Amino acid sequence: MKVRTRYAPSPTGFQHIGGIRTALYAYLFAKQNNGDLILRIEDTDRTRFVEGAEEYITESLDWLNIQCDEGSLYGGEFGPYRQSERKDLYRQYAEFMIENGTAYYAFDTSEELDVIREKDPNFKYGVNSRIGLNNSLSLSAEDTKAKVEAGDYVIRIKVPAGETVVVKDQVRGVVEFASEEIDDKILLKSDGMPTYHLANVVDDHLMQITHVIRGEEWLPSTPLHVLLYRSLGWENTMPQFAHLPLLMNPGGKGKLSKRSGDRLGFPVFPLAWQHPTEDKNSNGYREMGFLPQAFVNFLAFLGWNPGTEQEIFDMQALINAFSIENVSKSGAQFDFDKAKWFNQQYILQMNAKDFAKAVMPFAPEAQKDFPIEKLVPIAEMLKERTVLLPDFWEQATYFFNQPEEYDQKTVKKKWKDDNKDRLRALKTEIEAIETFDSASVENCIKSYIEDNSYSFGDILLPVRLMLTGVKGGPSVFDIAEVLGKQECLNRMDLAFERFEQMIG
Ligand code: GLU
Repeated sequence: MKVRTRYAPSPTGFQHIGGIRTALYAYLFAKQNNGDLILRIEDTDRTRFVEGAEEYITESLDWLNIQCDEGSLYGGEFGPYRQSERKDLYRQYAEFMIENGTAYYAFDTSEELDVIREKDPNFKYGVNSRIGLNNSLSLSAEDTKAKVEAGDYVIRIKVPAGETVVVKDQVRGVVEFASEEIDDKILLKSDGMPTYHLANVVDDHLMQITHVIRGEEWLPSTPLHVLLYRSLGWENTMPQFAHLPLLMNPGGKGKLSKRSGDRLGFPVFPLAWQHPTEDKNSNGYREMGFLPQAFVNFLAFLGWNPGTEQEIFDMQALINAFSIENVSKSGAQFDFDKAKWFNQQYILQMNAKDFAKAVMPFAPEAQKDFPIEKLVPIAEMLKERTVLLPDFWEQATYFFNQPEEYDQKTVKKKWKDDNKDRLRALKTEIEAIETFDSASVENCIKSYIEDNSYSFGDILLPVRLMLTGVKGGPSVFDIAEVLGKQECLNRMDLAFERFEQMIG
């Protein structure tokens, strides 16, 4: 049987990275088994619908190259893939359950239930309480009929009494639930819409999902789902379940939240977003300058490891190596420094041209149209100094602009009478270079120092400062080549003047 997994987000907010990790694992598992990933939008709860949330999900998946095989935008034979477009289909299943005695009508108003809950905060509508409540199990057939005809009812599952419901989970093993602990959850609401539980199980069945891979927060709902499969006569084709560990805040306390991300300075969303109606917004990994491949690699390790020392896995390598057995049972601690480490590793692996292309979207206004070809040598130099893509431009300013400031301390130390003359004389040597490139500049400056028995630090450091304004950076000879001879000479002149003023 073909493996079919699904990612089934609800567009009730912007997709947290925990959701994206679920999508990634479902994708890896499907692809490893030559199967398909289905994107299903669970939007039956219209009151919590957030405009733009579905587009956000699709854009995040695209950015990370998590390719869905079926979905509203991808087509497929099992559509529609938005539950709101399937809403007429669910009622028949709830009614089928009424007929076979695994579900019943309930007429309690929410006010009535609130009163009960107030008295007993642990109240469960279920095995032990249902017979005392307002439903087709407690009312006469006649009363029930009249109330159903009046149309104001919900349909609830009738959880069997005195049973242990067994969930076989691929991550957690066998988990048992006493049926007394399981609520008689509503399946069909009074407005005729299905609840998450009914729609989710019906769709997983109709869409022939073989593996349900989702977050651990859904594990407590799973015994109910198992009962639904049984009640609908679908037990033989019930999917396998795998519940993924929660993502935890750094330090391990509590579920990873936007609040702790804000406090510690990292986003918990793949892409930046602005809430359409509320005054809420958030930065995203894409906008911070993460490479999608690095981010995928990082995400994959939040809850899974290959069981070896290897850490760098591109998507294909992840597909090959992923296994549900190696998904951990305990919560995965979020580590932003590790995310940055992955980014750096991927930048280091890139060739200069690809790196140059990757930094282009982050270019300041003045460099927006800077030709890639000319950026490549700079990219080559700054690659190993870049952790997040915008870092590149911060470090690259001196390639595009004359320095505005110079490191004060160094100027004070090196701009001394005898050394001034040496540096001025060096300019004449540099002027005389015919083919101006890194090697010839290096050769010129080094011979000048050696021939005169000067100190390298006295000459090279001020030269670097003249060209860049700062003490550190890539090879000063390489920088000179990129700047070109005339620009280097101009910058030396400018620095001679400014150094004078600075020590003045
Ligand atoms: N719609 C649910 C969610 O938003 C899906 C849970 C599941 O995968 O079954 O997470």
